[in-house]
Amino acid sequence: MSDAEPAIIVHGGAWNIPDEAWPPHREGCLAAVRAGYAELARGASALDAVIAAVRFLEDDPTFDAGFGSVLGRDGYPEMDAGLMDGAGLRFGGVVGVRRFANPVLLARAVLEDGSHCLLSGEGAELFARERCFPECDPESLILDRERENWERYRREGFDLAEKFRRPRETAGAVALDSRGDLAAGNSTGGVSFKHPGRVGDSALPGCGLYADNRSGACCCSGWGEQIMRLVLAKGVVDDLGRGLTVGKAADAALARLGRFEGGRAGLILLTPAGETAAFHNTPRMAWASLGPRGEQAAE
Ligand code: ASP
Repeated sequence: MSDAEPAIIVHGGAWNIPDEAWPPHREGCLAAVRAGYAELARGASALDAVIAAVRFLEDDPTFDAGFGSVLGRDGYPEMDAGLMDGAGLRFGGVVGVRRFANPVLLARAVLEDGSHCLLSGEGAELFARERCFPECDPESLILDRERENWERYRREGFDLAEKFRRPRETAGAVALDSRGDLAAGNSTGGVSFKHPGRVGDSALPGCGLYADNRSGACCCSGWGEQIMRLVLAKGVVDDLGRGLTVGKAADAALARLGRFEGGRAGLILLTPAGETAAFHNTPRMAWASLGPRGEQAAE
């Protein structure tokens, strides 16, 4: 039992977020970090705080997660979410979910069930139905703006570089509770116009997220195909465990991305001592934190 000072940092994606989209990204992250911190302040676990923050971001149409997710090639969102508990290295995730508005809640159920780490597509949805999660019409998650984007991609084609222009982003959070436990969570609609069945880094342990009480916690956002080939989040957490500062661990991770042309990502980090930090090599990253140093957010 430790008497750690609780801390939480959330991200709302790391891309070229345009000026007009910046205020809702910043405000959304601030509101989410407050929702997560409220859990920590009432003595809830880091995992509960992460879930509260990520759920908040899933419900906010600003972000590419839950309601407002980007559409795949077939015109529907397919969402991924993952959660990791740094105390027992428990992991729960779902990928390719279409009919549930808060995939992070499904991820929690997978983690708590404990039989498996990751469930996909129809199997994940069957698992959710068996536990009476409310199902939604996939159409109800689609914004007009995303439908318009999808029509444009169909007419004009789509290349991944487009992602650097789109203003809608993945969501995630890492938290430390007063017991000294760390947790990490991500939720995403992935990349626009993706092939049905495409899975990104966001819900894969070690790739888009990792948490270990002994070393630290990290969530990534960015080009999932690159992040997963580098197992980026685990590398960052291992570097923290070897005693690197948050800055050095993040620099090393972003430098590893240099192996890929246009390698881009953003990271949020949290140490077992409660130090929060955000780093990115994208033009912008939306993030906000709350902890011993008060409230901070990307400007
Ligand atoms: N990493 C996510 C993915 O590739 C996207 C993002 O972070 O915006 O699915």
